[in-house]
Amino acid sequence: MARIGILALQGAFIEHERMLREMGADCIEIRNTKQLAEPLSGLVLPGGESTVQRKLLIEEGLLQPLKEKIQKGMPVLATCAGLILLAKEIEGGDPVCFGTLPVTVRRNAYGRQLGSFITEEEFKGLGKIKMNFIRAPYVVSASPETEILARADGNIVAVRYKHQTALAFHPEVGTDERIHEMFYEEVLECGEW
Ligand code: GLN
Repeated sequence: MARIGILALQGAFIEHERMLREMGADCIEIRNTKQLAEPLSGLVLPGGESTVQRKLLIEEGLLQPLKEKIQKGMPVLATCAGLILLAKEIEGGDPVCFGTLPVTVRRNAYGRQLGSFITEEEFKGLGKIKMNFIRAPYVVSASPETEILARADGNIVAVRYKHQTALAFHPEVGTDERIHEMFYEEVLECGEW
């Protein structure tokens, strides 16, 4: 059975877990390397504070093993801070975490305090999606191989590269489950890592 790892070091992971469990997914909260003893079929990188998440990933020895699984093709759904963790480059020179997604991101791109808002935009293959932004980043540039899934106000807010799907907004907030359904289908089609 497909087993989805939910990175549970910090941030808004429980909402992702709830949505995926409702679809019948088997989820495991990842807090340290013990949870990597059995293979994973997918990974969720939740929103939160990317600098804290990166620090904990390193301290717990999770960065390298998870990076290897991502590089081998394990499906990943990353939101907000998760997008920052995947990015190959962070504007301003912040330290990179996984660096597996060939994009440059701008952290807190909408401002630190007043940067939370909801908008509705077209998402490739899914139609209009309500997007919840919470002190969100956006993508300032993406490699030609990176597919752009959505823009908001002209800025890139959702991308896909190989099996990594990364969003600047929070699809786990609210009742629209289409993005998680799309991810779960991908997980069921792929293998184990
Ligand atoms: N501003 C946060 C960061 O830079 C991301 C915000 C979020 O995940 N909601 O890590």
